[in-house]
Amino acid sequence: MVSSQKAKRVAADAVEFLEVLETAGVIVDGDNQVVNQSSRALEMGLVEYEKVISTELVELMNEARRTKSSITLELFFAKNFRSPKLYVSARATMLSEELVILLVEDRTEAKRLEETRRDFVENISHELKTPISAISLLAEALQVALDDPEQVKKFANNLQRESKRLGALVTKIIQLSRIQAGDLQGEIEVFDLGSTVDEAIELNQFLADSKGVKIASDTPADIFVMGDAGLISMAMKNLIENAVLYSDSGSNVGVGLTVDGDFAEVTVTDQGIGIPLDQQERIFERFYRVDPSRSRETGGTGLGLSIVKHAANNHGGDVTVFSRPNLGSTFTLRIPTHQEEDNQKEMQ
Ligand code: ADP
Repeated sequence: MVSSQKAKRVAADAVEFLEVLETAGVIVDGDNQVVNQSSRALEMGLVEYEKVISTELVELMNEARRTKSSITLELFFAKNFRSPKLYVSARATMLSEELVILLVEDRTEAKRLEETRRDFVENISHELKTPISAISLLAEALQVALDDPEQVKKFANNLQRESKRLGALVTKIIQLSRIQAGDLQGEIEVFDLGSTVDEAIELNQFLADSKGVKIASDTPADIFVMGDAGLISMAMKNLIENAVLYSDSGSNVGVGLTVDGDFAEVTVTDQGIGIPLDQQERIFERFYRVDPSRSRETGGTGLGLSIVKHAANNHGGDVTVFSRPNLGSTFTLRIPTHQEEDNQKEMQ
């Protein structure tokens, strides 16, 4: 029980203050009975029957009271077994002779970002090691084979292939980490999507010819979108490149552009190897490859679709896939069209 009116007032003032913060706050008396809580604490479900439900948090408050100091603890917290687990930072401090305040900050998103960043760095180191050690081995082999022109030619070709792969990997890593920063990087402009798609086709023409894959397209002019044309071009290039790479010689790739409501839709369809249903979500993750050995053959980095996804999201759009193994795949990139009124609104 809170013994004095003064303590009650202190608790009420503290909670009022907490309402303006993102941090959840609970105030307990000497018996750990909850005197007051902020609405964020209510949302998080920290309190039940006027008690803080987590024994770890109760111990934290006891410790703060015993040591008369502020104590911080990071822990996982869930309201009940059906609720999502939150990663929280909790701090308990004496508020008065009698009262202890418990501040709980939801750090789930920050922790997830930190883990993503750490995984990314680990993956990069792993992916870079493979071509780097191949280059070093090939250079050694070249030194040994100096008297054999045939061998020299073979090793030099392999050396060139591996260094190209390394270059492509580094470029994609840089592109992806820039895009992931969230902002559109290049100049923001209104551009004709059809021309950008045509450019991306052009960039893949040599690859398609050398693989014996035909690209047919229907990309009408005058469909305008606003954003970073370079980024959308890169995304389109990746989608068309994949369609060609994961197809056999003699097959066709189709690229289409239409408008559906407020969105422009670019579709890239191939008759290639397709993607198993249970992997279709995962292919947009960084470094994910359905068949790492085939992907290695094609010089894949596992980053292309991740770049496409981020490019689409950064433009307020998305990318989806429809695919059946051995029949082929269709990737659809959707981004909002630019309306004339948008221009007028901007000018006002
Ligand atoms: P990669 O550089 O390995 O192609 P991506 O991120 O572009 O990396 O693609 C991830 C994986 O998705 C690929 O390794 C491949 O397994 C699969 N994939 C992507 N596009 C296609 C496609 N058009 N047909 C079949 N599989 C594809």
